[in-house]
Parts: sequence; structure tokens; C-alpha cells
Amino acid sequence: MTEAAPSKILVADDDLSLVKTLSWILKEQGYEVVSVPGGEGLLAKLEEEKPQLLLLDIMMPKVDGLQLLERLKSDEQFQDLPVLMVSSMPPEEATVKALGLGAADFIAKPFRVKELLARVEAHLRVGRALAQAREEARSRATMVDILHEVTDSLKPDEIYHILARRVARVLNISKCSMVLAKPGDLVGVVVAAYENPMLRNLEIELARYPEIEQAISTGRLVLVTDVRSDPLYTQERLRWERDGIKVPTRSAVALPFSMTDRQLGVFFLRTTGEDPPLTRADAQFAETVIKTAVAAIEKAYDFETAVSDKQRLEKLAATDALTGTLNRRALAEALEAELERARRYNLAVGILLADIDRFKQINDTRGHIAGDSVLRQVGELMRREARSVDLVARYGGEEFVVVMPETALHGAAIFAERLRRRIAARDFADPGEDPLHLTVSIGLACFPDERVHGAEGLVTLADQALYRAKNEGRNLVRE
Ligand code: GH3
Ligand code: MG
Ligand code: MG
Repeated sequence: MTEAAPSKILVADDDLSLVKTLSWILKEQGYEVVSVPGGEGLLAKLEEEKPQLLLLDIMMPKVDGLQLLERLKSDEQFQDLPVLMVSSMPPEEATVKALGLGAADFIAKPFRVKELLARVEAHLRVGRALAQAREEARSRATMVDILHEVTDSLKPDEIYHILARRVARVLNISKCSMVLAKPGDLVGVVVAAYENPMLRNLEIELARYPEIEQAISTGRLVLVTDVRSDPLYTQERLRWERDGIKVPTRSAVALPFSMTDRQLGVFFLRTTGEDPPLTRADAQFAETVIKTAVAAIEKAYDFETAVSDKQRLEKLAATDALTGTLNRRALAEALEAELERARRYNLAVGILLADIDRFKQINDTRGHIAGDSVLRQVGELMRREARSVDLVARYGGEEFVVVMPETALHGAAIFAERLRRRIAARDFADPGEDPLHLTVSIGLACFPDERVHGAEGLVTLADQALYRAKNEGRNLVRE
């Protein structure tokens, strides 16, 4: 993964002097060269050395180069490896066959050095481009996956866990965590760790993690290839020695991340002795994942906030602050819409207007605060008693309206009677106060009715019924 490393070339040939010459020429050019004299154990050597190019002799006494080529090209891990076939004879047939089996090129012995080098370099270049394209496709696919998971779950806690888990899995490392901290902090909080999914908000002393401190203070990625030699760890190494501490960590990457321009913390990757150490390419991959994920999360949050802000505002504008029921304006709109629906589908709409009896007395004897508390409780009781399709609104000071879709007079009367009884039975006093009993008078109306042409008319009709209930002695339901 280290892009600065020289390309490695494997030479498989039974002609030992040729192997020697080839190795010398190629090494002169800066390539790393390993060889398999005679071609025996070639596949094992390929797996071990992972060269970027193979020079393979077609004719060897013990193994058939063409057969080897065929085996190689049917193995997924060597599919992309450029293979240059080398042969002492130039038989047309073998050339054609080799290319047909997937050889990248064919070089006849004796070869001209310049030509050989030009071909080697050309095929290495193609191989690199191919490897890069495959790597990009792989990380793109992973990224898309991760983003799906991330944006499906918008709780920061879950997002941290998802990112830690996914990056750990993709890079195949065992330790990957999310640490929240700001520049200057002495303590960081580990909010998620792949190696310990149950972990929540573990505090760590940042002085023990110099790469985290540096990443946070500089805002840049910090790679420590080996904690046993990196100068960042000089102080810590002294402490380990002094305290006889054995540290399992070998390499580490601290990757700062921020959201909506606020620095939040670092993404912290570590390997232990057994894992291959982290490389700059690993760090860059992790950085890409985090950056893309953060951008997606920010967008999702923006959207969510905008939507929920709007919904909150709309809800607030429609709600009566004291009782939490709909306010009068919202009632007018909702009732109009309900009547429209009733007209279209030929449905009934029942409505009741409830007015607390002698409420002024409650204010006078128990005070306004107690009066407010009563109003709140009545609103709550009405909302609880009503069905979920019903609308409950505060119509005026101590007057409430309940709109009952698809309910005719008979059903509305049953509900009103139940409401009246529940209120009469209840003690509205605050705890520790003398009992506080009250009653309501209720007027009913129902749509359709030949006297009613709209929302206002329906409420007026209910108000006339309420007037009768008051007149006939209160604590009554009238229609
Ligand atoms: P009735 O049986 O005839 O309805 O008698 P009432 O006393 O309930 O009738 P009225 O309409 O005369 O008085 C209503 C009282 O409700 C007057 C007002 O001070 C009080 N009120 C209105 N809004 C609020 C409020 O938000 N909080 C409190 N505590 N009192 C309120
Ligand atoms: Mg009143
Ligand atoms: Mg009243």
C-alpha cells in the first residue's frame, strides 16, 4: 500500500545466468527483484512476495510455463498481475497461446535491454492503474454502504458506532474508536469503540495518547507507524519503561473530524503486534470514509432540523399555550376542513361546546393560579377521553370544543354525557389543598343541519344549546 516503495518483479526462469543478468539490470533501474529458479513453487512465492510483475519463462525443464500461466490467470488474486512471457525460441504458436491465456506480453530471447525495460515499465504502469481502479471501486462500494447505514440512523451515538465498526472491518484492524475532545482538553471521551461495543463515554487522559493530542491541536491526521520508535512517543516510552508497562499497540492513526465547522474529536485507529502496521494509504482511506460520512450526516441533520423546525413552529402556532389543546384559530381551520370532507363523502360531524360552570367563583375563591390549573386539567381530561380522530380545542376562557368526525347527534350525546360525569366526579384541587369540584354545561350540534352552512354556524348552534343547558340549571347536556 506504500506508494513510494519500488515495484517488485518476480523472475521465473531455469537459466540461472539469465536470471542473474535480468536481476542486475532490473535492480539497476530501481526495481526490487526476487527469483524462482526453474519455476518450482512459483504460486507460493507469488503469494509470499506479492510482486507487481512476473517475468515467466515458457520453456523450463520441470514445469510448463504455459500451464503455470493458465493456473495463475484462473486464480482471482493473480488476475491483475501482468505476466511477461520470456522464451528462447520465438515460436509463433507459443506466443499466440500465451497471449490467449492472459499473458501481458511476449519477449523473445535474446532480448534487447532497452526494449525489455520499456515493456516492463509499461506493464507496471498498467498494473498500477488497474490496482488503483479496483481499490477505488472497492472503497466507493464500501462508502456507499456505510453512508446508507449512517444516514438511516441519525442518533450521533449510533453513527459513531457504525463508523467505528465499518472502518475497522474494511481496514481489517481490531481497534477503532471515536474520541471526543477539543484543543486544550486534558481528558477525552471515548464515545464508541469497535473492540468494545458496549462501551459508553469512557474518559481517557489525553497525555497518554500523544497522536490524539497532536491531531486535535493541529486539526490534521497523525500517523504513528511504530510507537516503539516514533518521536511523538518518547515521553510515553520513558513512562512505560519506568512503570514496567507492556503496551500492545504498535501503530496508530488519529484522524480529526469536525461537524458544522465545530471540531468534535478524533477517529482513532490502532494495530497491535500481530496486525500489519497502519500505512498512510489506510489513514487516507479512513479519512475519506469519515469526511464523506460527516458530510452526509451534516446534510441529513440540516434537512431534519429544517423539517422539524417547521413542524414545531406549525404545531406551536396551532396550540393553546395553557392547555395544550388546539387554539381557536386552528380549530376554525380544522373544523372547516372536517366539514368539507363530510360534505364530499356524505358524513356526519358532531361538535360539543363545554363551558365550566361558575368558573369565576373558582378564580375568586382559590385564585387565578388554581383557576389555570383547573383549565389545564380539564383540557387534559378532554384530550384523554376523546378518540384520536377527535379534535379538542380551547374556544375561549373556560370553554372547550370537541369536534367528532363521523359522529351523529346520538354518538356525540353519549360522549358528552360521559365527559360531564367524569368532570363532576373529579377532584381538581392541587395535592394537599381542599377538594375542588366543578361541573360543566355542554351544548351539542351536528352537521349536516339545514341551519348550518359552515364552521361558524355549527359552533353557534352548539352555543345556543349550551345556553339552554345553563338556563335549565347547569351540569347538563343539551342539543
Ligand atoms: P357560568 O356558569 O355562567 O359559565 O359562570 P362562569 O363564572 O363560568 O362564567 P363567566 O363566563 O362569567 O366567567 C368565566 C371566567 O373565566 C371569567 C374569567 O376571569 C375566567 N377566565 C377566562 N380565562 C381564564 C384563564 O385563562 N385563567 C383563569 N384562571 N381564568 C380565566
Ligand atoms: Mg363562559
Ligand atoms: Mg362558565
